[in-house]
Amino acid sequence: MRWFGLGGSRREDSDAGEQASPAGESRPQATDARERMRQKTLEEITSFLLTHRLPVSVATLEIAHDIVTGANPMVGRLVAERISSREPITLAWLEDVVIAQSRDNSGEQLHHLVMRLESSIAEFAATTTAARTATNDYNSALEAHVGDLGTVGSANEVIVQLASLARDMISRTRDIERELSRSERETRALQKNLADARREAEMDHLTGLPNRRAFEAVLKQEFGESREVGDTLAVAFCDIDNFKRINDVHGHEAGDRILRTVAQSLAKISNDKCHVARHGGEEFVVLLRGKTALEAMDILDNAREKLATRKFVNRATDLPFGRISFSAGVADAHAYETSGEALRAADEALFRAKSAGRNCVHVAGPADAAGQAFEGDDDTGEHEYS
Ligand code: GH3
Ligand code: MG
Ligand code: MG
Repeated sequence: MRWFGLGGSRREDSDAGEQASPAGESRPQATDARERMRQKTLEEITSFLLTHRLPVSVATLEIAHDIVTGANPMVGRLVAERISSREPITLAWLEDVVIAQSRDNSGEQLHHLVMRLESSIAEFAATTTAARTATNDYNSALEAHVGDLGTVGSANEVIVQLASLARDMISRTRDIERELSRSERETRALQKNLADARREAEMDHLTGLPNRRAFEAVLKQEFGESREVGDTLAVAFCDIDNFKRINDVHGHEAGDRILRTVAQSLAKISNDKCHVARHGGEEFVVLLRGKTALEAMDILDNAREKLATRKFVNRATDLPFGRISFSAGVADAHAYETSGEALRAADEALFRAKSAGRNCVHVAGPADAAGQAFEGDDDTGEHEYS
C-alpha cells in the first residue's frame, strides 16, 4: 500500500524550482522533472484519499497534501503510527488531530505574542512615567524662574520678552504633560487587556479549565515552593476510559459534552491547594499541595466513584452513554528530582491503572507495585443527561 511521503524529506510541488535547475540542465528537462514531481504528488494524494476511503473536499485535499509532501510532519507521524497499529484513518480522527494541532499552535503563538507585548508595554510605561515626571519638574522650575523674572522689573525689554517666551514654554509643557498622562492611562488599559488575553491563552475553551501551559507553570512554582518549605505535593494524571467509543457511537459533539461533564466533576475537588487542568485530549492533570500520594489517591478515587456511579444519557438521541469513568495515576512529587519526572511517574501509574482494567486509581512507585489501587464498582444511579 503506498500513499505516502511519510518520513521522507519535504518536497515542494510549487513552481518555485525554476531558478534552482542544476547547471547545464536544459529548461525543458527541468520542466519535465517538475511535471513528474507534480504528477507523483497528485497520485499520492489520490492514493491516500482512496486507500482510507476519505471524501474529496478542500479540507481532506489540504491534509493529504501536507502529509504526502511532508509539510506537516507531526500529522504525518501520527498517521504512520495509526497505520502501523492498524487503526483506520477516518475523517473524524483526522479532524481531531488537525484541530488539536492548530489549537495548540495558536495558543502557543498567542502566549509568545502576549509575553512580548507585555514586556514592551512595561518599558513604554516606565519611559512615559519618567518623561511625565521630568516634564513636571521642568515646568515647576520654569514657573519659579518666571516668578523671579517678574521681580527684576518690567522696564527691561529683553526681560519682558524672556518672560513671555518662558510662559509660552510653560503652556506647551503643560500640553505635553497632559498628553503623557493620557498615554499613561491608555497604557494601563492596554496592560489590563493583555492580562485578559494572557488568561485567555491559559484557558481551555472547551472545558473552561486551565490548560496544560497554565498547569505546567503552577506545577513548576508549587514544586519549588513546597520543596523549600517541606510541604508534601502530589501530582495526578487522569484519563477518561474508552472515550474514543463515545465519539464513535455518539459523535464528536456528544464527546465534547462528556468531556465538559468530566471536567466539571474533577473541578469540584479544586481549591486554592488543588489545581485541576486539562492536559489535552481526554486527559486531565491534578496538583495537590499538602497531600501525600495516598491522600491524593483517596480524593481522586472519590471523584472517580462519584462519576462512575452516575448514568448519562445522550440528550440529543436519548441513547445511554453507559458508564463514564476515568483512570488515574498519582505520584508523590518530591520522590522525584524534577516536576517533569514526577508527572511522568504519575503517567506511568496511569498506564498501570489502564492495564489493570480501567476505572481505578494507582499510585506510582512501591505503593503501586504493592497493589494499592482502588477499583470501581457498578452501583446504579439516576439517569443524567449530557
Ligand atoms: P483508554 O481507556 O485507553 O484511554 O481509551 P480511549 O478510547 O479513551 O483512548 P484513545 O487515546 O484511544 O482515544 C482518545 C480519543 O479522544 C481520541 C480522540 O478522538 C478523542 N478526543 C481528543 N480530544 C477530543 C476533544 O476535544 N473532543 C472530542 N469529542 N474527542 C476528543
Ligand atoms: Mg488518552
Ligand atoms: Mg482515554
